[in-house]
Amino acid sequence: MNPIKNASLKKYNTFGFDVQCSHLIEIHNETDLLELYAEDFFDNHFRVIGGGSNILLTRNYSGGILLNRLMGHWMESEDEHSIDITFGAGENWHQTVLHCVKNNWGGLENLSLIPGCVGASPIQNIGAYGIEVKDKIVSVRVFDTTSGEFVILSNEDCRFGYRDSIFKRAEYKHLIVTSVTFHLSKINHELKLNYGDIQHELKQQNVSQPTIADVSNAVIAIRRSKLPDPAVLGNSGSFFKNPVVEMDIFKAAQLKYPEIKWFPVDETHVKVAAGWLIETAGWKGFKKGNVGVHEKQALVLVHFGGGKGEEISSLAREIQTDIHDKFGIVLEFEVNIW
Ligand code: FAD
Ligand code: NAP
Repeated sequence: MNPIKNASLKKYNTFGFDVQCSHLIEIHNETDLLELYAEDFFDNHFRVIGGGSNILLTRNYSGGILLNRLMGHWMESEDEHSIDITFGAGENWHQTVLHCVKNNWGGLENLSLIPGCVGASPIQNIGAYGIEVKDKIVSVRVFDTTSGEFVILSNEDCRFGYRDSIFKRAEYKHLIVTSVTFHLSKINHELKLNYGDIQHELKQQNVSQPTIADVSNAVIAIRRSKLPDPAVLGNSGSFFKNPVVEMDIFKAAQLKYPEIKWFPVDETHVKVAAGWLIETAGWKGFKKGNVGVHEKQALVLVHFGGGKGEEISSLAREIQTDIHDKFGIVLEFEVNIW
């Protein structure tokens, strides 16, 4: 495993912030986890990083960082209609989606081009273009760092919610995801096209009878046109969640801003587009020192280089306060602040 002492995490977070951890360890197989358990590694502070695309590093970390590099994929079961297939937690998410699309296994295509690893996909129940990964997850295999055992959690055990799961809660931070099993279709794919610009993009590409590959290509094209590539401009995707707000709070905001962008959730709640709130409040394209708000997508905070994570967290708090003052709505961070 060869731990590296006082390692820089700069290349392991997509914001590109240069902070250090006391030691960095790459995990390549489940035996590595058992060895660390035997050495009492988990008695001390530790954290796991996959692709580092949903974290904001604001300070040096005195504990150990595990880089999840558990690779591989294997079939659990299949019939003429569907397949249950497992991917190692360290597999790249987008390559996993492309592998499924290439094999004509349907279900994940709307989640194309999301950065990061398979192991992080259940953590915040990744979602895009009307699909949440929870809809395709059968089970999640985890290593329990307190008992030293591997456990399989069912979809229900994970208590998935909107960009949420048990893994985000402090009392489950002792679990390390080692692999995820997905249930995918082999025929009669249920395409999800009524979200965002997918239909418009398919039309642009002269596609009238889309396949899952067409949908994946459309999503990739839309995302490339709107979102900054972390390899070029540091970012962690949407910094804030779309707030799900109670009807009376929403009605008060709507009275002031009749054009507010919202979507129904249930009888007493609506989801408000956080990007719309931030843009309407005038933050889109804002720059302060080494950081700012992306010029094409107000939900994305960016690092131009040479800055510190605290600059992003301070800008995020300024935006939070301003949105609350203007709309009476509280924005929550989607990115994990470390
Ligand atoms: P990391 O950033 O490495 O980790 C995120 C959290 O998960 C941390 O708390 C970490 O400790 C924990 N973690 C990671 N791996 C494990 C593991 N194996 N076991 C236990 N805990 C673990 N997200 C969406 O939902 N939808 C999008 O459309 C989307 N688009 C994005 C676009 C861009 C340009 C960027 C930069 C980000 C985007 N994201 C999106 C956010 C992010 O890519 C996802 O949340 C992704 O799943 C994070 O994966 P990761 O491997 O990089 O996680
Ligand atoms: P968009 O299409 O401009 O839509 C703006 C917001 O409205 C989205 O956040 C989306 O919510 C919501 N929305 C749109 N159509 C909807 C519908 N039919 N029903 C319910 N909600 C609807 O969004 P975008 O910024 O270009 O992003 C496109 C997709 O990629 C979204 O699903 C978004 O979540 C995802 N994305 C996520 C990240 C991230 O880091 N988390 C980064 C980039 C893109 P939802 O976000 O709930 O879908």
